[in-house]
Amino acid sequence: MSDKPNKLIEKGKRLDGRKVDELRPIKMEVGVLKRADGSCYMELGGNKAIAAVYGPRAVHPRHLQEATQVIIRYRYDMASFSVKERKRPGPDRRSIEISKVSREALAPVILKEYFPRSVIDIFVEILQADAGTRTVGINASSVALADAGIPMRGIVSSCAVGKVDGEIVLDLTGQEDNYGEADMPIAMTQDGKITLLQMDGHLTKEEFAQAIELAKKGCKQIYEVQRSALISKYEGVSNV
Ligand code: UDP
Repeated sequence: MSDKPNKLIEKGKRLDGRKVDELRPIKMEVGVLKRADGSCYMELGGNKAIAAVYGPRAVHPRHLQEATQVIIRYRYDMASFSVKERKRPGPDRRSIEISKVSREALAPVILKEYFPRSVIDIFVEILQADAGTRTVGINASSVALADAGIPMRGIVSSCAVGKVDGEIVLDLTGQEDNYGEADMPIAMTQDGKITLLQMDGHLTKEEFAQAIELAKKGCKQIYEVQRSALISKYEGVSNV
């Protein structure tokens, strides 16, 4: 039986009370794991995720190492209890795809040539999921990389945009993702260079342009949260 609501947007308001261009509430904390070199916990509405960064460190197995640059590994994992219907533990096609695109979303900002023959491992665990988990993983990882002191050109921020009840909306919930017309996760650098763009569904050329503009706005807001989370951990910490 479908739990499809009659309307997902009524009088400009979504089912959770947001306007079409609003993000869900965000919480972010840096340095939550003692054993990791860098870590970050993030909530975005009903999503809860943790990112841990290890490295740069020696590559095992050694034949994977690259002579001129660091390699980056990213593992996205969704806990079996994170969704309504228990998810079978372990990797599947979806998590392998998300790990690949998330690594590619972050790799362009990392100064890879600084650490030849080494590896940076990024682990993302989704503890609670409500659509947009790959964007949460990327946001949290980006901050965890900075927390680990990895030299980067900037921070990557990510959010999803899409189409629901004929309107272009920011940051879809699970319900909007399931019953909407399009879902488009995007990641970008502070200067607007897109490092991830995927799309499920259909948008016209005009809607696509509108969605990109909305994603830019969303990423800017997320960047501010990432920045303040890092500042609040490191303010008052001296270099000497
Ligand atoms: N989902 C689920 N079970 C699964 C995979 C996904 O319930 O095995 C839900 C979960 O809430 C997830 C949402 O479907 O956040 C959308 O998944 P999608 O593959 O679009 O990736 P996401 O939007 O999380 O990046």
